[in-house]
Amino acid sequence: MAIEHGLPEAFSPDSYDAIIVGAGYAGAVCARRLAESCGFKVCVLERRDHIAGNAYDCYDEAGVLIHQYGPHIYHTTNERVHQFLSRFTEWTPYQHKVLADIHGTLMPVPFNHTSLKLAFGDEKGEALYQKLVMTFGENKKVPIMELRNQNDPELTEVADYVYENVFLYYTMKQWGKTPDQIDPSITGRVPVFVGDDDRYFPAAPYQGMPAVSYTDLFEHMLDHDLISVFLGVDARDLITVGESEACVCGKPYGGEIVYTGPLDELFGYDLGALPYRTLDMVFETLDVDRFQPVGTVNYTVSEDFTRITEFKNMTGQVLPGKTTIMREYSKAYEPDSGQTPYYVINEPQNIELYKRYRERVAGMLSFHVVGRLAEYRYYDMDGVVASALELTDEIIAQH
Ligand SMILES: Cc1cc2nc3c(=O)[nH]c(=O)nc-3n(C[C@H](O)[C@H](O)[C@H](O)COP(=O)(O)OP(=O)(O)OC[C@H]3O[C@@H](n4cnc5c(N)ncnc54)[C@H](O)[C@@H]3O)c2cc1C
Repeated sequence: MAIEHGLPEAFSPDSYDAIIVGAGYAGAVCARRLAESCGFKVCVLERRDHIAGNAYDCYDEAGVLIHQYGPHIYHTTNERVHQFLSRFTEWTPYQHKVLADIHGTLMPVPFNHTSLKLAFGDEKGEALYQKLVMTFGENKKVPIMELRNQNDPELTEVADYVYENVFLYYTMKQWGKTPDQIDPSITGRVPVFVGDDDRYFPAAPYQGMPAVSYTDLFEHMLDHDLISVFLGVDARDLITVGESEACVCGKPYGGEIVYTGPLDELFGYDLGALPYRTLDMVFETLDVDRFQPVGTVNYTVSEDFTRITEFKNMTGQVLPGKTTIMREYSKAYEPDSGQTPYYVINEPQNIELYKRYRERVAGMLSFHVVGRLAEYRYYDMDGVVASALELTDEIIAQH
């Protein structure tokens, strides 16, 4: 692999069989597969000054391994994805656990047996728990809508507590909404876990952290003789998409283009900008071994920020006397402002707008869109890897 900053003067798109925009999961998986399965010479253009997209991690000034774009916990049920990624990294075991700070008491989320006792006191909490066990059975995830549907005042009390203390204010902060703007179908899906398991992803057989780092995983994935990565290059300066074809450096391009950036941006937002939420991430290094008991603590009834992450609790890094934490403040995203578009706002009018952009490239058989930005949808890491594997299956089958 060659990683260079900027494009060489002699850069010629025609010397590559494929041009890939973005060096996150979507782009890196496609680059690797097209290089090794098709023998394609692949050019990856990335406008940031690093690979790995939003999964990028690095050491801060205090020597703490941090996730620059928010905490990333790898978890999957997808065997193929796991096998593929495991070619490029070993894994450090890690089971993610989340606590909610509710008026100063830290309670497991999703709300479980322990949380019930912390919220309602030992005796009443246990009685409520036994009622949940009798009604739904043990080790079940029950949406609060189902608790309400039982028309039992005690179960309704549990549902109301969870709604008000775990869900409501957190969701208002996260999405910038008032209570009446929150979709009742989403509200109803908030779960209570009838059991003691306090893992956030109990169903994922594969879960952990890359043994060295996510960035190291990407370095290995992109380490192939046929892959060249150019950092600090905005593909919009090279690629233009017309009615029926894509041009690179002003000339029609005969190879495959895989685009993992935002589609509205590619077209100069001429139909309007696709809305996102962004996050201000405020990092702080403290002179203590440990700040909080788990990787993330959600602030569900207080504070302006949504959660605090302590990276050492997730990566397992041993570094006495120092730790770095990060607070997340959610806000509306402004296009072309230098902010990172993080979360798609999944509302019908936005999906409609996205479809109109998508139609413009639908007929171009060699122009492929994949990834969280290009598809305007939320993906976990395993989901985007699965999508990139499927897309490249199709391209490989044609060559
Ligand atoms: C706060 C937060 C926490 C998350 N936590 C988890 C988690 O715990 N577990 C999990 O599985 N998933 C998590 N995710 C999801 C994960 O980040 C995504 O699944 C993953 O990053 C998607 O990869 P991607 O390649 O589609 O996009 P990205 O990682 O965003 O990569 C796209 C790349 O394309 C580049 N690009 C865009 N346009 C251009 C252009 N015009 N020219 C050149 N380059 C361009 C961008 O700079 C970027 O590097 C989280 C997401 C967020 C926002």
